[in-house]
Parts: sequence; C-alpha cells; structure tokens
Amino acid sequence: MSSRRVAVIGLGRMGWHMAAHLRRADHTVSVCDVVDGVAQRWVDEHGGSAFVDAAEAANDVEVVVTSLPADRELLTVADAILPVLGSGTLWIDHSTTSAESARTVHGRAAAVGVGFLDAPVSGGVDGARNGTLTVMVGGEPADFARAESVIAAYGARVTHMGASGAGQITKMTNQICVVGLCQALAEGLDFAETAGLDVSKVIHVMLQGSSASWQMANRAERMLAGEYDYGFSNALMRKDVGLVLDEARRMNVPLPVTAMVSRMLAEVSDMGGDAWDWCSLMERQRLHRDTV
Ligand code: NAD
Repeated sequence: MSSRRVAVIGLGRMGWHMAAHLRRADHTVSVCDVVDGVAQRWVDEHGGSAFVDAAEAANDVEVVVTSLPADRELLTVADAILPVLGSGTLWIDHSTTSAESARTVHGRAAAVGVGFLDAPVSGGVDGARNGTLTVMVGGEPADFARAESVIAAYGARVTHMGASGAGQITKMTNQICVVGLCQALAEGLDFAETAGLDVSKVIHVMLQGSSASWQMANRAERMLAGEYDYGFSNALMRKDVGLVLDEARRMNVPLPVTAMVSRMLAEVSDMGGDAWDWCSLMERQRLHRDTV
C-alpha cells in the first residue's frame, strides 16, 4: 500500500487507535484534537505532527480521517477544513451522525472537489484498538475505491453501502436491531435469576439455541455481575437512538420497540449511568423489579 499524508481529527476513544494504526501502516500522520495536549500526547507516543487547529492539521494532506462526537462537531470541522483542502482530497468520516449532516458535508465537499465518505463503524473501542472494525460506507464508488486501502489499517470488514448517507443509515439499522435485543436479554436474565436458576448455566444453554446473540455471548455474564465500566456508553447509545428516531419520523417508519428502549436508556441516565456501558439496561431492570 502506498504511503499517504493523512490528517486524523478527533483523538478520542476511537480516533486515537485509528491514528495509531495509520502510523503503523506507514502513513505520514498529522493529528488534531480540540482538547489541548491530547494531540501532543499522541505524537509523543507515535510520532508525527500535533495540532489543536483542524485547518492546520489538514493543510496539504491527501486524506482526512475524522472521528468526532456528533453532527455539531462534524459541521464545525467542515467549516474549518473545507477552505484549506486541495481539490482531490479524500475525507473519510467515521463519526456517527445523521444522514442529513453527512449529505450536507458531502455536498459542500463536492463543491470544492473533495470526496467525502460517511463511514461509521461498529466494533467498539476493542475493535479500534485491534484494527478489526466493521465499516459501513456511503458516498461515491470512486472515492470508496480510493479509501479502501486507508481504512484497511483498522477496518476488517469495509463495505460500500450506496450513495452519501447510506453508511449512516446502515449504522442506524444496526442500532435498531440491537437495542430491543439487549433489553430482552436483561428481562430474560432477571426472570431466570428471580426464579432461582443458575443463570450462568441458563446462558450456556441458550448460547447453543435460537436466542444466541453477540450481546448474549459478550455481555450477559457482565450484566449478571452488574459490571458496566467498559464498552459503548449509555450516552453514546442515546445519541445514536435519537438519530434513529429522527430519521424514522422523517421516513414515517414506526419503531415502537426502539422508542420504548430509548425511554429506558434515559432512565439509566437518571440513575447516574451516562458513562456506563449501555447494557446497564440490566440495572434499570433490577431497579424496577419491585415496581411492576
Ligand atoms: P470521543 O468523545 O471519545 O472522541 C471524540 C474526540 O473528538 C474527542 O477527543 C474530542 O475532544 C474531539 N473533538 C471534538 N470536537 C473537535 C473538533 N472540533 N476538532 C478536533 N477534535 C474534536 O468519542 P469516541 O468514543 O471516540 O467516538 C467517536 C465517534 O465514533 C462517535 O460519533 C461515536 O458515536 C462513534 N462510535 C464510538 C464507539 C465507541 O465504542 N466509543 C463505537 C462505535 C462508534
């Protein structure tokens, strides 16, 4: 793979590891985070150049990779870097945002000759650290073809889903398919526990049957133990579910289970659980045991 000049903007739980993989893949990496000192800390560990200003980081690069909290930050970074990016630059955005913001930035980027891809990820911090992320991409096929070798540094499964916004819609679909499942798992574990069964044994049996899922294999034991200090935070899941419900309203698609679990996730926040893994739906289930 040829070495490129890449700017990584947003060195949070995900972007930090993505940038490290790009460096290991021999790209020339400039990094930027709005929090003072973060980019320098990354450079002290990995080399490259550190910036607090996104426009300075993106000056004269061939590829920009962003991993930002949400829509607002994506639009802020677009305002900052689009005036300095040269025509032909590729911008790969791994933030989870609305499809609408992705399409807006795609349009503004196209107007100055920049190829923008919405490329949200699944696989969590472990996936970013291990370079095994699943990446769902929306945008021009030619831009996707150029991006594949870059994303390969940290993405194990990288799929072009369609036009701009299709990556974000795919990520939303993923969240719809998982939120109700985790609540069902919390209910099942609580049910078996209250009945006095050996719940670990129940999980072991179910993993060989029709209710087996990734959540059950990777989260059920920790939900039982009440351990939530890991993984994908309740706050992030609430953000994603909010995006899903907005998009569903626009398309007039009924999502009754997702809407219900969205209210439950808000209750987990009220319990002080914003930073807990979102499978802390189990904690809410236990709290409500005596009130049903
Ligand atoms: P994070 O909050 O840890 O990281 C975001 C980083 O962006 C922060 O370091 C922040 O300081 C920086 N930032 C914000 N505004 C900036 C600006 N204008 N210029 C430069 N830097 C700026 O978030 P994260 O957990 O790394 O997630 C990033 C994205 O990936 C989110 O959209 C999230 O929904 C998505 N995602 C996260 C996970 C996960 O497990 N953490 C999994 C899948 C998808």
